[in-house]
Amino acid sequence: MRKQIVAGNWKMNNNTLETEALIERLIQHTLPEEVQVMVAPAFTQLSQTVNLLKQQPIMVAAQNMNAADSGAHTGEISASMLKGVGVHTVILGHSERRSLYGETDRLLQAKVSKAIAEELDVIFCFGEELHHRKENKHFDLVKEQLSSALFNLPKATWIQIVLAYEPVWAIGTGETASPEQAQEMHAFIRQLIEDQYDANLANQVAILYGGSVKPSNAKEIFSMQDVDGGLIGGASLNAEDFMAIVNAF
Ligand code: PEP
Repeated sequence: MRKQIVAGNWKMNNNTLETEALIERLIQHTLPEEVQVMVAPAFTQLSQTVNLLKQQPIMVAAQNMNAADSGAHTGEISASMLKGVGVHTVILGHSERRSLYGETDRLLQAKVSKAIAEELDVIFCFGEELHHRKENKHFDLVKEQLSSALFNLPKATWIQIVLAYEPVWAIGTGETASPEQAQEMHAFIRQLIEDQYDANLANQVAILYGGSVKPSNAKEIFSMQDVDGGLIGGASLNAEDFMAIVNAF
């Protein structure tokens, strides 16, 4: 059986006090054993979050990292810096990194390879914009994003990869892909992995859906056969909403 995962992407939210308050509320909830729960704070709150969650079954991920080892990269964070504060998972390829900070498939290939080499787990985000879907190019685009950044990886390294399909038109907009649209794309992605590698791997890779997941729609989305959980933005900033989503399987 594949892992079920719910990861909260806090983006550029939650200063020290807010982080403490949110975590205090999160840890009052009992988590379902079969769901792996993660939160991804900003870089400055990683240490704090790791410490506050030390005794808890909630993992901590970073929202980004640089592909270089070290050096003249002002404002950037390396894989070894993440590991140094006890972080072992990194989100790469988020649509906001792609659209606001110019991250390309090529750059993401370098980041993913570096993360894998440093033994970090990767939540790899990808997904089409509205115009791709309107032009019926969404499958081609997703294929291109996955091929460029991931299909160079040896099969054995996929144990470190979780995929997060996030249609850009559904992120932070209140617009959600229908459960059927999510299922259709997730099944397509699994087929791509089978074609590139094999059916065994395709059946093992967890594929999350992201884009305006809320307590009110999570159950329906998570009930789809090829949806293994969610990457949650806005709703992860509220402990009760996030935990309702965690319990929506
Ligand atoms: C995200 O940023 O990854 C995301 C899915 O955001 P939201 O849930 O707010 O749409």
